[in-house]
Amino acid sequence: MPVRGVSPSRLVDNFNEIHSGHRHEALDIMAARGTPVVAVDEGNVVKLFNSKRGGLTVYQFNDTRIWCFYYAHLDRYAEGLKEGTLLRRGDILGYVGSSGNASPDAPHLHFTIFKLGPEKHWWQGTAVDPYPLLTANRP
Ligand SMILES: [Zn+2]
Repeated sequence: MPVRGVSPSRLVDNFNEIHSGHRHEALDIMAARGTPVVAVDEGNVVKLFNSKRGGLTVYQFNDTRIWCFYYAHLDRYAEGLKEGTLLRRGDILGYVGSSGNASPDAPHLHFTIFKLGPEKHWWQGTAVDPYPLLTANRP
């Protein structure tokens, strides 16, 4: 679970919703501003990017570089986080916020998983719905 303290039963699958004309292709996890956002798996930070829509974002590849985890609308990054930082599962990478095009009244983590293509470009991948993965067989 990428947001600390959120139970899987609180998640709502909004991957296929249409948001401003586009399929959302991510999971929005509502949480109070400042709640720690943690790595879902082990792997290196590949890109820290500030985009108009996503705000402060982190792109993290898993160790086998098959998957890219995308965390967006962060309030701020964890202290010392850099491109190349190796994160282990549960390490804090940032804090929930509403940067980018998120409503300031509804801070949340916009989270998705991309299956990387052969070029392993952080900006190219096929989005995979994280909901079934985050809600299956969790203690
Ligand atoms: Zn979203």
